[in-house]
Amino acid sequence: MVVVVQEKASESSIEQIIKALHDCGFDVHRSTGVNQTVLGAIGVQPDFDTRQIELLPGVAQVYRISEPFKLASRSFRREDSILDVGGVKIGGSAVVVVMAGPCSVESESQIMTIAKSVAENGAKFLRGGAFKPRTSPYAFQGMGEPGLKMMRKAADEFGLQVITEVMDMSQIATVEKYSDILQVGARNMQNFTFLKELGKSSKPVMLKRGPASTFEEWLMSAEYILSGGNHNVMLCERGIRTFETATRNTMDIGAIPVIHSKSHLPIIADPSHGIGIRNKVIPMARAAVAAGADGIIVEVHHDPDHAKSDGAQSLYPEQFKELMQQVRIIAEAIGRSVA
Ligand code: PEP
Ligand code: MN
Repeated sequence: MVVVVQEKASESSIEQIIKALHDCGFDVHRSTGVNQTVLGAIGVQPDFDTRQIELLPGVAQVYRISEPFKLASRSFRREDSILDVGGVKIGGSAVVVVMAGPCSVESESQIMTIAKSVAENGAKFLRGGAFKPRTSPYAFQGMGEPGLKMMRKAADEFGLQVITEVMDMSQIATVEKYSDILQVGARNMQNFTFLKELGKSSKPVMLKRGPASTFEEWLMSAEYILSGGNHNVMLCERGIRTFETATRNTMDIGAIPVIHSKSHLPIIADPSHGIGIRNKVIPMARAAVAAGADGIIVEVHHDPDHAKSDGAQSLYPEQFKELMQQVRIIAEAIGRSVA
């Protein structure tokens, strides 16, 4: 941590700041310039609240130089983490994985039809929610365990892996039985007791970014799962809340290269929730792959006009085919291939 002292601070206030830093357990290195003094506070304290020092008389600025997350950080692990999910590799610079399927599982015939079509076009994972986080309690809430069974059956039939959302602790054991990846929804990103419980799971977890979360908050949430002992964590950028109202969310493509430099964890992009408008999903998927996403998760429906949730952002199967053709070319242009 670096403490910049105000230009006209008295010697006694500088001494008080140094004493406060020592009392907090830091070693202090003082650099005295002509007009300004800078204090280097050395000591690893990831949970230190810098406001304790910012409030002291004579302090101009306090800068943290080490990051509060450890296990999720690039400094802890230099190489990319590569997760192996049923033989499909996620992460690293070689492949881009594609997850596709409906927003919600609605019936056996629906999930079978969509699974067949996305598998034929090169998806490796079947997505779909059986437990749905809906803004309205009157909206379709998902089929629950029967929906999970249908999804598993459809995925097995067409050689896919399953990714589906788990909404709370009471559902973990059930979702683990059917799913290859546990999806944590955006609204749950900071449900810390839930994240701790997922730290004990043997299944990989995909942690979506909260709609109003900073990179640091997102990586601290990943840290909860990692520090619980589950090292199979990937992140998912799914759009954030901004002042813009023309799109459902604002897809933060910049998250992809920034997270890659801060963390070794794979990052998946969700252009469907990221923009929320069907005819703009393909351009956002292209942008995400171009920016280095390790995978994309896309909503696809054979009859989106009658979908029980998110029909307006779900691609028709022919559009998904087009998306796959385009992202293959983009992946190749940056030295990767679509798994
Ligand atoms: C979903 O993937 O269908 C979903 C509900 O996503 P999010 O948590 O990003 O809103
Ligand atoms: Mn959805």
